[in-house]
Formats: sequence, structure tokens, C-alpha cells
Amino acid sequence: MTAIVQGHHYLSWIITAGGIVAVDTGWDLYRGLPDEESDFFALAQASELARLPLTHILLTHDHIDHTADLSALLQRWPQATVMAHANSSVAAVGETLADGDRLRVGDLTIVAYHTPGHSAQGDELSFWLPDERFLFCGDLAQPQGPSYGYTNGPSPVPFFVDGEAYQRSLARLIALDPQQMRTGHGNLLGPEQSRQWLRVTLATVQRIEALAFELVARYPTRSDDWLIEAIYDQIADERAFGLRRANQRKRQRSFPERDTDYALFDVPGLRWAVEAAR
Ligand SMILES: [Zn+2]
Repeated sequence: MTAIVQGHHYLSWIITAGGIVAVDTGWDLYRGLPDEESDFFALAQASELARLPLTHILLTHDHIDHTADLSALLQRWPQATVMAHANSSVAAVGETLADGDRLRVGDLTIVAYHTPGHSAQGDELSFWLPDERFLFCGDLAQPQGPSYGYTNGPSPVPFFVDGEAYQRSLARLIALDPQQMRTGHGNLLGPEQSRQWLRVTLATVQRIEALAFELVARYPTRSDDWLIEAIYDQIADERAFGLRRANQRKRQRSFPERDTDYALFDVPGLRWAVEAAR
């Protein structure tokens, strides 16, 4: 087994005899983390220690928290090939990867799967190491809690834009039955948790869709925004998120210059469901 996956946040890397493969770039430099907490510096140290350069940078999707430190990585390792899906908006992509493409680095095999649904760009790739049964799922796994009935995440719903594609992508990843899974935000999960995270995410999207059909049939003259909020509140209740937190979420702004977190991250998936039910 060559695959030792390291990194703490949104940047992971695998050291192989043929070079180091990074999955996503993270945004530790972009958000100004001190050196000792930054995955960028940890990767630079690992590269020096192993006497191996970074040869590949694989992107799971082009959201800023996954790509912001790309220029810093390329400055440090200008020979590295940036690989992403053709739908990616990242300018530095050197080679595109399509569904099922295989990559060989040292004695490590990596298979790319196109798994859209989360990002508006439709460029999401999951990376599967078949020999290790190890999955990089990007931001696909967003259970928001250990079960459907309980949330401890920031929202009761996952961030997605196309629920139909998202359900298909999640079902594909569940079928892989990973023994280990690395999520886009740095969680390293064993087989049971991997299954659970993917299944709870899928169950939530399915429930959102079912509820949209129910509410659109019952209140056909109500506006989309009213229906979206009604679904949100119902899911928050079913998932024990709490009405107080749900209302807080509707006002909270993690990016002060932009819209509320609710509008940015929760509404797109709910809007897809309402439009599908219309
Ligand atoms: Zn994302």
C-alpha cells in the first residue's frame, strides 16, 4: 500500500514512489492560517522529507475553499500537472479528467468519477483508489449529523444545486463501498462512517424532494420562496435542528459582503426540489 493520505484541512496528499499527488489545494494560505497550522507548509515539509516533488494536483471541484491555494502550490512546484473535470472554471488546469479515467502515479492507481450535483459548475470529481478501496468524495458527503433524525452541523440540509444528479452521484459512491473515505473538509472516515455519511446525505435529499412534492400539491398557489422556507423548517424540525437555530441560519452571514448562508448554501437545493415538483 503506497497510499498514505495526509493533510488536516481541505488539502490532502498521497506520497507515492513516482511523486506526490495532492487532492485539492485548500485555502489555508488564502485565509491566513499561521504556518504551523497550514497544510501548505505541512505538504512542503513532507515533500522535503520524502525528497519527492508534488507531481499532480487533482481538483474535486472549483469552490474557493478547495482551489484558493493553487497558485501557491504551482509557484512551489511549477512542474505539477493540475487535473480537473472539463467543466472546471480553474484556468490552470493542464489535463482534464472524464468519468472513469484512470491515472497511474508510481504504483498507485487513481480512478476519477464524475459525480455532479453539489456545485453549480457541474465539475465534481470523486477520486477512487481501487487497491486501497479509498475514496476522496469531495463535498458530496454532507450528512450534517450522525443520522437523519439528529444534526450537529451548521445547517439541516446539504449544499447542492441539482438534486437528481446529486442522488445519482451519492448512490454511485455508496455502491463503491469504500473502506476509507476522505471528505473535502478533512474528515477521514472508516467503512461504517463512510457508508453512514453518504446514506444520511442521500436520505436528506430524498426527503427534501418528497416534501417538495407534498407541499407543492397541497399549496399550489404559494410562491417558491414560501415553499422553500416551509420545506426548510419542516426538515429542521424532523432533524432536531431546532427552530431557533433555523431562524438564526436565515440571518447569519459567514461572508459579510455576500448573501445570508441560508440563501447561498441552503436555498439552491430546496429550489431545485420545488422546481422539480412544479
Ligand atoms: Zn464545495
